[in-house]
Amino acid sequence: ETETDYELIGKHEVLPLYKPREKYSHKGTYGHALIIGGSFGKMGAVHLAAKACLHSGSGLVSVLVPKCGVLPLQTNLPEAMVVADDDDERITKIEVPIAPTVIGVGVGLGTDKRTAKALSDFLEGNKVPLVVDADGLNILSNTPSLLDKLPPQSVLTPHPKELERLIGPWKDDFEKLEKAKGFSKKYDCILVIKGHHTLTVYNGRGYVNTTGNPGMATGGSGDVLTGVITGLMAQGYEPLYAAVFGVYLHGRAGDIMVEGKGYQALLASDVSEGIGQAFMDLF
Ligand code: AMP
Ligand code: MG
Repeated sequence: ETETDYELIGKHEVLPLYKPREKYSHKGTYGHALIIGGSFGKMGAVHLAAKACLHSGSGLVSVLVPKCGVLPLQTNLPEAMVVADDDDERITKIEVPIAPTVIGVGVGLGTDKRTAKALSDFLEGNKVPLVVDADGLNILSNTPSLLDKLPPQSVLTPHPKELERLIGPWKDDFEKLEKAKGFSKKYDCILVIKGHHTLTVYNGRGYVNTTGNPGMATGGSGDVLTGVITGLMAQGYEPLYAAVFGVYLHGRAGDIMVEGKGYQALLASDVSEGIGQAFMDLF
């Protein structure tokens, strides 16, 4: 492999991707994102993803959650609309009563058998662009035949453990990269390999992010990233650009917010609060 297969992503690289807000626009201009996830005790993940999705500029955000998520979400995130599953504690059926531009699925989802069946049935008929994270990825790893059902250019955002479940173990970084490229090609998906210097892989190329810091090594950080990428896709960013730009913004938000908070104290919700400043810092 040659050096030109990789690109470092900083402000200079993402600036041309930025879509300005039009004066004569309305919420319909910026799409409708749907976040599907949550289970008893993990509803915070959906809250974080939906809020980050709103902070990233999605015109509308809906969430599909088990019943126990309705009250906390409607109380704490009034900007989001909530659709409830019949079950109290987990998703058992994925019916989409709206026409979303993009769906982010998996945060806090759990891997209950009924939930896995719901995801599998949903993928059978779905044509809406997807961002898949967390337990959404774990369900795919448990039933690899589902990977063939993903719409083209789905964005998958595994952390290292989730990546290993998807592509199997690797013995060094070179092999990891080769396996990741092969996987991305086989399933026509954009793989966002999270960590320090998150690496996005698509079409045989790697995009190495330069923002972010160890303060972001804290619960919920990844859920915020899912919201950012989903929010950018809602507004019409192509999946690869939404991934690369989203990873940059998420890291930049973390870098901005850690200044006043400190590495130990930084929370995922602080990163979300910093998304606006990360956009403004582009100019
Ligand atoms: P998750 O493990 O799903 O919560 O995702 C963690 C998020 O935080 C990813 O976006 C990572 O890139 C980011 N993150 C975690 N640790 C670090 C680190 N040491 N440096 C930079 N970013 C990090
Ligand atoms: Mg995660």
